[in-house]
Amino acid sequence: MNINRRTFIIHSLIGSTALATAGLSCAQTAKLAENDPQAAALGYKENATKVDKAKYPNYAADQSCAGCQLYQGPTTGAGKCAIFQGKLVASTGWCSAYAKKA
Ligand code: SF4
Repeated sequence: MNINRRTFIIHSLIGSTALATAGLSCAQTAKLAENDPQAAALGYKENATKVDKAKYPNYAADQSCAGCQLYQGPTTGAGKCAIFQGKLVASTGWCSAYAKKA
């Protein structure tokens, strides 16, 4: 393999990786909508205080995504949720899959 061909292949691989990473990054920054079918099925609300307490009696006022085991992210703003792959949930959100962090 000559230098030019090797250089071209290396640059192509770097470019492909960068594009794949950029695509993944965009997918991860999509905010989860409350009317997303899976979100609606789990009663997800961006603001936990808006949870339908009659429908979800297990909800408690001190619960939010920021305190859920399935949440990965900052305590303010938004982060990833193991249930809603590729979407960001609000740290102030809640859904019926809530599991208190240990
Ligand atoms: Fe929030 Fe936890 Fe429900 Fe994910 S599983 S949306 S982090 S409460």
